[in-house]
Amino acid sequence: MINKINKLIKRFKFKRIIDLNMSQWWSIDKLEDFQNQRLRKIIKYVYDNILGYREKFIKAKLKPQDIKTKDDLWKIPITTREELQNNKDFVNDKLISATLYTGGSTGTSLKYYESEESREIRWNSHLRGWSWNGYIPGKKLAIISSAQGLVKDKNTINLIGGLTIENLEKNVEQLIEFKPQHLRGYVGSLYILAKYCLDNNIKLEGIESVDPISENLYNFQREIMERAFDCKVFEEYCCNDGGACAWECDSHEGLHYFMERAIIEDVDGEMVVTDLWNRAMPFIRYKNGDSVKFLDKKCSCERELPLIKAKGRDNDFLITKNGIVGATYLMYHGIGYVGAGEDDSKFRTGIRAVQYVQKPGYLLEVNLVKNKWCKDEEIISFENILSKVTQSMKIRINFVDDIPKTKKGKRSFIINDDKELLNKWRKMK
Ligand SMILES: [Zn+2]
Repeated sequence: MINKINKLIKRFKFKRIIDLNMSQWWSIDKLEDFQNQRLRKIIKYVYDNILGYREKFIKAKLKPQDIKTKDDLWKIPITTREELQNNKDFVNDKLISATLYTGGSTGTSLKYYESEESREIRWNSHLRGWSWNGYIPGKKLAIISSAQGLVKDKNTINLIGGLTIENLEKNVEQLIEFKPQHLRGYVGSLYILAKYCLDNNIKLEGIESVDPISENLYNFQREIMERAFDCKVFEEYCCNDGGACAWECDSHEGLHYFMERAIIEDVDGEMVVTDLWNRAMPFIRYKNGDSVKFLDKKCSCERELPLIKAKGRDNDFLITKNGIVGATYLMYHGIGYVGAGEDDSKFRTGIRAVQYVQKPGYLLEVNLVKNKWCKDEEIISFENILSKVTQSMKIRINFVDDIPKTKKGKRSFIINDDKELLNKWRKMK
């Protein structure tokens, strides 16, 4: 009984620690104080409890008291995704509340864990971000992402993720009937849908905002979406491994980085992030593979949360004869989830990493790293799905031990070597 009460108190306390709706109006000084306080706590925690970090600190001759504010962060060595991959030394399994996998623009999928507080701030961050574009749960939302087919309930509809002409027709029929107030989805998918609507003179009434996620948003895509759906696009950036997230407010002057969730550093243009909440698998100075630029201006909305530009890797899409296929889409259908959800059994575990290289003439080379336990069936199913997604492309799979790196040591997820086609596509309106 006492345990139960303690648990309740703990929960109650946590919920009172930070009210994101209130803190969005805090001054920058107050936000920084908050970050520094949380930083000292998490640093002490990892030193005392997480072997992997303790060893890193000892090697760098650091003690928790050496990190007083975020200005001291540079002293801590960077943590890479490779270091965390399948490494129990960075996990406190007593505190795991959810298991997640990275998607997006990196070639290697990382299995990672969240503690309860981390999960809660993730959701609260999303709720605050969405509220900026007018969406609150209960309003009518259409999602176009990796869903295999139409799923519908009273307020949400998941459209078909595969975007053949036939499926686009079906999706539009559903949208006309469902009348969503908000559209959310992968950039590439929303773009194809928008272009289809424009090309066919289809007008969808009553959409209040578009929320493109998970892939780089190019200006030409934003323009097409705004024209097609006759409303504003609100970009969001979210990388849950490490907790970096940022949303566009209705002033549309950049993305406000959510300081209450994580500390973002710009290290030579690369994003390095320290999660302020996750104690199940802490991310301390974690290089998440994305790039960041702080914008040197204040937003006219008067929030002092700094404005940034955040990007995944460049060239992160393939161009088929029928349109583009973005990184997240490939992640889910290729290496990633066989179905949706956070369930291990639905994850194609035999494939450790993939890299897609588009060559001229609609040739797709796939560099694929197998895990030891990978079965032939997994490769066959991967190839089948990939050939559906990429439609008319010719696919060649190269089995490699590691994803080839660029000169800068990056392992790009998608490389588009058909520069002529890429430039043509970017100019297209
Ligand atoms: Zn703003």
